[in-house]
Amino acid sequence: MNKLDQFVCHDHFVNLNQSYISACSDVDFLKYVKNLKIEEDLLIKYTSSLMDCVQERKMCQKCSSFSDCSHQVKGYVLTPEKVDKRILFTYIACSKYQKYLDATKNITYFDVANEIKRASFQDLYKDDKARVPIIKHFKEFIDSYKKTKKGKGVFLTGSFGSGKTYLIAALFNELSKKNIKSTIIYYPEFLRTLKASFQDDYQEKFDSVKRSPILLIDDIGAENCSSWSRDEVLSPILQYRMEEELPTFFTSNFNMRELEEHLSNTSSGIEKVKARRIIERIKQLTVEISLVTKSRRH
Ligand code: ADP
Ligand code: MG
Repeated sequence: MNKLDQFVCHDHFVNLNQSYISACSDVDFLKYVKNLKIEEDLLIKYTSSLMDCVQERKMCQKCSSFSDCSHQVKGYVLTPEKVDKRILFTYIACSKYQKYLDATKNITYFDVANEIKRASFQDLYKDDKARVPIIKHFKEFIDSYKKTKKGKGVFLTGSFGSGKTYLIAALFNELSKKNIKSTIIYYPEFLRTLKASFQDDYQEKFDSVKRSPILLIDDIGAENCSSWSRDEVLSPILQYRMEEELPTFFTSNFNMRELEEHLSNTSSGIEKVKARRIIERIKQLTVEISLVTKSRRH
């Protein structure tokens, strides 16, 4: 090392030392680094990352659930670990995230928003009478499914943002806790994903949805209906599920009559019989319930 390098190094160390000393004026920082039981000269080198760790833990104190987490990597917390003569910083899943993972471990999602994945029975709005018959049906469903592995699904129709998807996702999370497996597909996007996988794992995706013990087809009617989506995707999925008596749920902004109309219109013309057949299957699989309330979207 030549003189100049030594000088730069020394200068650098003094700067580091100063930032460490000033970081220690924060009681939380001081407490945190003391608990680590790592030598001070090493702590000095990593002051800035250690400050990030302390900052994240301060946020943790205000956070009550996974959805509140505002960390750089949501649900994870930056954590130091001494390895040889270095400190490595890794993201470790926090316990609130673990709880959330446990709640959803039995659910397969295709193109579903995160807020829906976190839906919980406890958080359901209770101010609203419109939800009562639905929750009653869910309770009956859980009982019947536990005993017989069967049960009628719901065709939940109603206005945009009324909380249809959230309600059924909350049911599936509840079932997941009892180790019951289910799948949620956001139908319009699922069709696009499926189409894009023609050369790839198309059959695998299709089969996993078709055979899922419990299925939610979310937002049916919001897709661009084509004869492919109706006759090659929806129809065989429903046929199979009807024969195997696999519980199937739907949400839609349409009621069944409107959906029938939607399904009969494709670019190949109007095909009432094919649409009728699908509606018949949906009727066999579900009870239709409508949820009309004010929008829950912010
Ligand atoms: P829909 O499927 O009827 O269009 P969503 O289920 O997507 O409506 O709900 C709309 C918004 O309201 C979402 O952001 C969802 O997270 C929230 N939301 C709906 N129902 C509840 C509920 N019971 N508790 C908490 N948040 C809810
Ligand atoms: Mg929805």
